[in-house]
Amino acid sequence: MAKRDYYEILGVAKNASEEEIKKAYRKLAMKYHPDRNPDDKSAEDKFKEAKEAYEMLSDANKRAAYDRYGHAGVDPNAAGAGFQGGFGGAGGAGLDDLFGGIFGDIFGGQGGRGGQGARSFRGADLRYQMEITLEQAANGFDTTIKVPSWVECETCHGSGAKPGTKPQTCPTCSGQGSVRVQQGFFSIQQTCPRCHGSGKVVPDPCTNCDGVGRIRKTKTLEVKVPAGIDDGMRIRSSGNGEPGPNGGPPGDLYVEIHVKPHNVFERDGDDLHCQIPISFSTAALGGDVVVPTLGGKAEITIPEGTQSGKTFRLRGKGVKGVRSGYPGDLYVHVSIETPVKLTDKQKQILRDFEATLSAGGAKHSPQSKSWMDRVSEFFK
Ligand SMILES: [Zn+2]
Ligand SMILES: [Zn+2]
Repeated sequence: MAKRDYYEILGVAKNASEEEIKKAYRKLAMKYHPDRNPDDKSAEDKFKEAKEAYEMLSDANKRAAYDRYGHAGVDPNAAGAGFQGGFGGAGGAGLDDLFGGIFGDIFGGQGGRGGQGARSFRGADLRYQMEITLEQAANGFDTTIKVPSWVECETCHGSGAKPGTKPQTCPTCSGQGSVRVQQGFFSIQQTCPRCHGSGKVVPDPCTNCDGVGRIRKTKTLEVKVPAGIDDGMRIRSSGNGEPGPNGGPPGDLYVEIHVKPHNVFERDGDDLHCQIPISFSTAALGGDVVVPTLGGKAEITIPEGTQSGKTFRLRGKGVKGVRSGYPGDLYVHVSIETPVKLTDKQKQILRDFEATLSAGGAKHSPQSKSWMDRVSEFFK
């Protein structure tokens, strides 16, 4: 059977870009993958055919040879490629496993495009950890941070070559920036180990930057921390990450916010919580107590007969929502403090006091009464 034309197999034009070829192949691979078409010989054949076409056309050298000489110019068997081993031996890996491994490597998330030659990629994102106080988070503030960055070497203007010399085409990858290696059944495209994807080597490196073409510098960035920002949120500074290799776009800088624990308030979203101890007599008699808020002191009225654990809400005394712009509330949780280190006289007063409670029956302690009732019910 005569071999079909590789472009025809993938359904792309002769002048299709690498991207178009990759897309076309991926579509076919998904459709005809043996895991999706078990025991379907024709699907398997189509898959192999597409795979071979993609292998040839995705490699610039092989593609050039194929364009010139047709099938005679490229022999997949000679390159050790292909699925001749069959899929039965793939260790039972599922579709996701296979694709995770293969497409993950080849198509990797950050596929940049360098035109004819070397590939360019988006630079890496940088993370900067910033620790702030709750007050800073609530009010917002402006600050500056120092981040490491690369700048173009002034001596060689980024080429990495000693002034008067020029970078040369990488002999390992012929300037492609990538090489193909065989891994099991699959042939995988990898960044050229010699030129690290740039497609060029520098025989006479610049002494200022050791041939890298750029030097490490620290740059100062202004950061606006918005009011209401919360622990774990990130502020993105577009384009302030690492520059992309081979002229690719830079990554982003992320400032990660960590809010230190506060010794009075606990934050829950836009609300704040605090615990205040009140005396047993204040709880019984009622009274005004001073409570802290982020904006200063406030007063709340404790009503007569307040029980431990009672919560008072102060509207709008929480943290302003970073998105909504509206403040949350402050919840004051009271706990009644049992007095300690009593004098003999104080103890006697309490005993006398207790006796008056007993004389009054259950009306002074409704909680105890209801609890006792439930307990005796339980024992019956
Ligand atoms: Zn230099
Ligand atoms: Zn290379």
